[in-house]
Amino acid sequence: MVAYRVERRTNDDATAGFEETVEATLSDPRGWVRAGFDLVRRAEDAPYLIVLAEGEEVDRLCLPYDTYGKYSCQNGPVVALNADRWRTATPKWTADLPTFRQMLVNHEVGHLLGQKHPRPQCPRRGQPAPVMNQQSTELDGCLPNPWPLDWEVALAARHDRPLAPGPDRR
Ligand SMILES: [Zn+2]
Repeated sequence: MVAYRVERRTNDDATAGFEETVEATLSDPRGWVRAGFDLVRRAEDAPYLIVLAEGEEVDRLCLPYDTYGKYSCQNGPVVALNADRWRTATPKWTADLPTFRQMLVNHEVGHLLGQKHPRPQCPRRGQPAPVMNQQSTELDGCLPNPWPLDWEVALAARHDRPLAPGPDRR
């Protein structure tokens, strides 16, 4: 079981419902559940934290990664999501905002589960992007996709990578 806490360090209407969206995404049967991960939200006493915060705070939480006030990250036990991206997605994103949010959660939690960016990022143009593709930055001809593809599920289902890798393990 992978137990996590969710924290929203913002209080505007546009980020309301963050906690529920994270929980719904991580327990969705289309998600990492398929790879045998039992992701359970706890109010406290969980080893992993998924937090929504403004860019400055995300930058601090993500060090030594550079998130430049706009990116999100997974850094050891912490998944830090950028509140501006949560509010508006990115110019490159061609699907709707709820889908972007699911993608963001599944991508960064994918890192928490030990998954890496695929090479190449878009293996088949015109097909759904791997969820571990850096879709926030560039779709590379792939279609936006918030859920792990079958082969990503198969990779993750091996459970052969350490959870919550730090910067030295990527
Ligand atoms: Zn990534």
